[in-house]
Amino acid sequence: MRKNANQAAVDDAASPATAHFRLISTENIESLNVNLQTWYHEASRCVHYHLASESDENVCLIGLRTVPTDSTGVAHILEHTTLCGSQRYPVRDPFFMMTRRSLNTFMNAFTSADWTAYPFASENRKDFFNLLDVYLDAVFFPTLNELDFAQEGHRIEVAEPSNPESPLVYKGVVYNEMKGAMSSSMSQLWAAVTRHLFPSSTYHHNSGGDPAEITELSYEQLKQFYTTHYHPSNAVIMTFGNLPVEEIQQSLHDNALRHFAAVPDGVAATVSASDGLSRLISIPAEKRYAAPLTAIEHYPCEADEENGLKNKTHIVMGWLLGDGSDLEQNLEAHLLANVLLEHSASPLMQAIETTDLGNSPSGLCGLEDSFREMVFVCGLEGSERSHIEAFEQLVLGVLQDIAENGIDQDKLQSVLHQLELSQREISGDGYPYGLQLILAGLSPALAGINPGSHLDIDEALESLRQKITDPDYICGLVRRLLLENMHRVTVALVPDEQMAARQAAIEAGKLAEINSRLSAEQRQQLIERAEALTARQASVDKPDILPKVGLADVPPNKPMVKPAEALGKSSDKGQLLTAYDQGTNGLVYLQYVSSIPQLGDEELRLLPLLSAIIPELGVGKASYLQMQEAQSASTGGIGAFTQYRGPLDSSAFCGGAFVLGGKALERNGDKLADLMTRTMAECRFDELDRIHELCSQILTRRVERVTGSGHSLAMSLAASGLSASAAVSYKMGGIESIPWLRETIAGFSDRAKLEVFAGKLEQLHQKLLAEPGQLAAIGESAFLQRSQSIVDRFGADLQLGMTGLDLRTVSLEQPIQVQQAWQINSQVNFAAIAVPTVPADHPDNAPLTVIGNLMRNGFLHRAVREQGGAYGGGAAQDASSCAFKFYSYRDPRLNETLQDFARSVDWLLETRIEDAALEEAILGVIGGLDKPRSPAGEGKTAFINALFGRDDDYHARFRSSVLKTGSAELKQVAERYLTAAADAARHSVGLVVGERGASQLDTKRFKLRKL
Ligand SMILES: [Zn+2]
Repeated sequence: MRKNANQAAVDDAASPATAHFRLISTENIESLNVNLQTWYHEASRCVHYHLASESDENVCLIGLRTVPTDSTGVAHILEHTTLCGSQRYPVRDPFFMMTRRSLNTFMNAFTSADWTAYPFASENRKDFFNLLDVYLDAVFFPTLNELDFAQEGHRIEVAEPSNPESPLVYKGVVYNEMKGAMSSSMSQLWAAVTRHLFPSSTYHHNSGGDPAEITELSYEQLKQFYTTHYHPSNAVIMTFGNLPVEEIQQSLHDNALRHFAAVPDGVAATVSASDGLSRLISIPAEKRYAAPLTAIEHYPCEADEENGLKNKTHIVMGWLLGDGSDLEQNLEAHLLANVLLEHSASPLMQAIETTDLGNSPSGLCGLEDSFREMVFVCGLEGSERSHIEAFEQLVLGVLQDIAENGIDQDKLQSVLHQLELSQREISGDGYPYGLQLILAGLSPALAGINPGSHLDIDEALESLRQKITDPDYICGLVRRLLLENMHRVTVALVPDEQMAARQAAIEAGKLAEINSRLSAEQRQQLIERAEALTARQASVDKPDILPKVGLADVPPNKPMVKPAEALGKSSDKGQLLTAYDQGTNGLVYLQYVSSIPQLGDEELRLLPLLSAIIPELGVGKASYLQMQEAQSASTGGIGAFTQYRGPLDSSAFCGGAFVLGGKALERNGDKLADLMTRTMAECRFDELDRIHELCSQILTRRVERVTGSGHSLAMSLAASGLSASAAVSYKMGGIESIPWLRETIAGFSDRAKLEVFAGKLEQLHQKLLAEPGQLAAIGESAFLQRSQSIVDRFGADLQLGMTGLDLRTVSLEQPIQVQQAWQINSQVNFAAIAVPTVPADHPDNAPLTVIGNLMRNGFLHRAVREQGGAYGGGAAQDASSCAFKFYSYRDPRLNETLQDFARSVDWLLETRIEDAALEEAILGVIGGLDKPRSPAGEGKTAFINALFGRDDDYHARFRSSVLKTGSAELKQVAERYLTAAADAARHSVGLVVGERGASQLDTKRFKLRKL
């Protein structure tokens, strides 16, 4: 029997599925070029939204309303456990197995505050239907095995299995994932804000799970939550792409929906029978406060050697606004949030950036509109508890001023222009474009509202354009939504030096208490369960149960987009502009690129700061505030970055490109070109306070990113001595750059030092300007016809005609071995080992790349995640660093993980590599190569790749040697390079550890540095 199935329900797979779906509505959304269809599956009450599009990257998302009533992480642990096997696919790990048997362009699962979603995307038709089948079975018919709950959720084990008297420890994937996630002070702050803003509804709780409460969740509670939440009548299914809707519905019906009657067992009473789209689960509006509230919360934080706990308090103010699924309220809230915070010249952002009450604006600043009721937040980092009142006065003063004096019309127009631009832009370089549209419509869809209204905002924007012509409109909005809104909280997150130790003591006490109560029999049960779990983890599933695509389904090499030769411009000096004719929906993208000359160590460290700062400075006689306004009025933003890569055949050299990019609506293309030219040619370095403030913001973001990207930092550290490009990237953005920047900024209290610093930036800028540049323009052909005007505008102030990039400006004579550990504020660790390998065009690059996937699939995923309890772990060849890297992510262990890295090499050498495993590893590599990008992203990538000599021939060569990789070759290559992973004298180690990891460190080998 299937769970929740009512066999009396429709069971006629033979009849066409469309007979079971009723078309409720259909509408064309012109600005997005999609047709939105709303369908209703009568028997199961499931709603299906289909966005018919020309895109062949088809996307599906199964979303469920999930409304936890505590912080045990039940919805999150259920999301993980759901993906551990289902009725027709009773394998232990279908999700991870499918990621390897598929050409998917996206596979994931998310738990949000009030929904859980299972999305995937693929460009391959067979693959899409394979994934749909497996996802439907996983969501609606999961096995929910108790051992999987123990693995994914939490469990207690005896620390040393061979010694039953040894102490107890908590393990579990979500348990460690959330320990890692909640190590970030930002996560703790957000959890505190929502806890206080929502005293009674589901948002009061941490839906991901608070580690201290996760351990309270029982297996019975998990199953109960499943029964009351996972039913088609409580789900929406959203699809996007060019596959016929009838075929998708056939699969939805046959594989899932036909097994369901409308009402799941046990929850009949909660179903409203009146109309088809009524909700099974709804979230009541929050009770409103009569007066604002202030709350002091604490977070674990170590004192600095110099400053102690000074300037480590975060202060934020949060307001509860109206219904986010109501389009009018939603757009009004967005308008107001953008007016206040969009850029440095927006009044509230300006006040927060320039105040002496703290270091930089809080990363939480902005609007959260995916909740039942929206939340507006503004705040300050690097402050003091004693500044709470002053900060409130600062914010309320700005709001009061707007309520009395209003905002200039042209500033309001700029904000609307930004909303229009983001509506038009076809993104898709992070998540697939179709998935972004689906996520934009998901909250309204789950609230029972047609998501079309939130996708097609042209009309609503027009109405807003009318409203803002009334000078009182924005004043009224500020009063109504913020000043007179008493449902407001101020939260101060205060550092507490003892908190980490207290938390650890509470956990240890809890375990000791459990330990003291355990009977010998219970202790034996714990040991037996651990053994059963280990046996289950070691068991080899029959992967043939799952559908798959194979190497025969791999599409031929897709060449990069070609420049439109006829639209490009060149001169006797060299190329001036390369044009890419792409369907960008009325936007244009410009890039100015120049070669980076040879630089010293200090200049390399300054380079990422300079590129981040250039678009944020004043230009010529204009102040930075005026430039921010000018950018906002006619562009979608200007940004700069640098990139270093080596030649295809060498690890000893590399060279870099400086890139200044911008985007705008087509009608503003010339203005964009002017602004970019002036920004590059005339940016000024005399606004010292601005430079100081921007550096503080950069530092804050770098520090914030540590807990989420510790594995990247550990890998970058481990590889830092192995090639010229790895050394450069470590110098520019490695973990060591954080204390360097902190010290540099601390020196700015001496004005003369700040002046010297600004002078260095200016000199570096001059060096960049001395190099001739080249342009790329990406857009639709009507715009590109006018590209001469772009060249003229840039050419007036900048030298154009770069002939190519010099890839030998940096050299590394000898590889250097690194063994370093850094300590951060965290309960978990990130470990990495790197061994030297080969550059991109070496014949061993392809087999090494395949080995990375093989090791993760066949060994490291099990050893580091399932058994070790880390959130993730793997290995990868990195041709740009000429290194093979092993890593773990949010890892409760340290030394054992390093041993597992070494064991993975033995495993590879000793195990017979099955054809199926090899095929999966190869598919994974190909899937990564074929990831689709946005139309603009395709053009930008082709341009940069061509400059660095990564042409179609190179990509075709690499692809074909990946496809040809054989198992004998893999072993030879592993023998040649990877045995160094087991030999401390031959590999490099980078460790980013928490307090506990630091205590386990082999201090003879590693000198511990504190971040
Ligand atoms: Zn998770």
